[in-house]
Amino acid sequence: MKAFTYSSMPAKVIFGFGTLSRVGDEIEAQGCRRALVLSTPEQRSSAEALSDRLGGLSVGVFSEAAMHTPVEVTDRAMAAVQAVAADCVVAIGGGSTTGLGKAIALRTSLPQIVIPTTYAGSEATPILGETRNGLKTTQRGPEILPEVIIYDVDLTMSLPAGITATSGLNAIAHAVEGLYTQDANPIISMIAEQGIAALASALPIIIRDSKDREARSDALYGAWACGVVLGSVGMALHHKLCHTLGGSFDMPHAETHAVILPHAAAYNAAAAPEAMARVARALGVQDAPLGLFELARRLGAPTSLQAIGMPLEGLDRAADLAVANPYWNPRPIDRAGIRSLLDDAYFGRAPAHIGEVARA
Ligand code: NAD
Repeated sequence: MKAFTYSSMPAKVIFGFGTLSRVGDEIEAQGCRRALVLSTPEQRSSAEALSDRLGGLSVGVFSEAAMHTPVEVTDRAMAAVQAVAADCVVAIGGGSTTGLGKAIALRTSLPQIVIPTTYAGSEATPILGETRNGLKTTQRGPEILPEVIIYDVDLTMSLPAGITATSGLNAIAHAVEGLYTQDANPIISMIAEQGIAALASALPIIIRDSKDREARSDALYGAWACGVVLGSVGMALHHKLCHTLGGSFDMPHAETHAVILPHAAAYNAAAAPEAMARVARALGVQDAPLGLFELARRLGAPTSLQAIGMPLEGLDRAADLAVANPYWNPRPIDRAGIRSLLDDAYFGRAPAHIGEVARA
């Protein structure tokens, strides 16, 4: 066994069907009585239904959560928190809503109860990405980590096929990078492999039958596992590239992850053979990057940057930005390699690494 450092994240996790009924008890268990329920505008009706269900424990709904946690939205949410004297936040939704809850907790230390309805995994991390004047910055801290996660599989039954696929691949990306990161450790690697396997087997079933309860349950479990990986160890090239594409080209978050993942894995394949073997085993394939590409195709997820709105003339700038600030990656970052990765991703080619693995 190689030397390693492992720290676990404190959080209470409640998983199952119908667990939304537990929210009130969890508010009280936190010593709170005045919850502000958060959502996106699209999920306002779910937030209102939850608020009604909470009765006197809810002091209202704030439904302006938006992708990449813009600080203007957080400022308005802070005014709402103060106006109703909230003593905790309950976030019901995907990573955007969870992000708003985290931003409020960072400013107030209020406890957070998160009810995830996508597979993004943010609920299991002490990480917050905020956007100010179009610039996204990321920070970590113990106060950002939600106190309680309530996974209610019933709430994911309505997740549309498109978001199911891209959000699931977003989760898998956390686990793939967690397997080859600099601070990988055996416990988190075990969780990563399980997370990939659970999602890779459940997602194709859900795409065929969105109401398959067992597959929905497996996918949500996999998403939690992948979120734990993201929250516990560092990430590398894939997350840096997606961050650059999201922050500087306003590319959609989960879709960008879905497109880039096979290519980032291909870039790192020869430098991270053990991680790739585990990814391949979890996917039930011979070759991890190709397996990830095929999975995205089977799920009907986008496989090219072109298809999700990336301008062709932006590729050079994206490559420049991706090499501007050095960071650790299993294979050293070189501009020509990144530019060619982006080219493959732009045109939706199958990942080009087989020759390199053979040469390595
Ligand atoms: P999202 O939260 O933006 O949700 C996408 C859309 O789907 C929204 O309109 C939402 O209301 C809707 N939706 C969510 N669940 C639904 C359901 N069950 N049924 C119907 N509609 C539903 O998307 P996301 O991919 O979950 O999150 C992306 C955001 O999360 C990004 O801002 C990203 O940066 C952040 N994120 C952060 C972390 C972290 O650790 N900090 C991790 C992953 C993602």
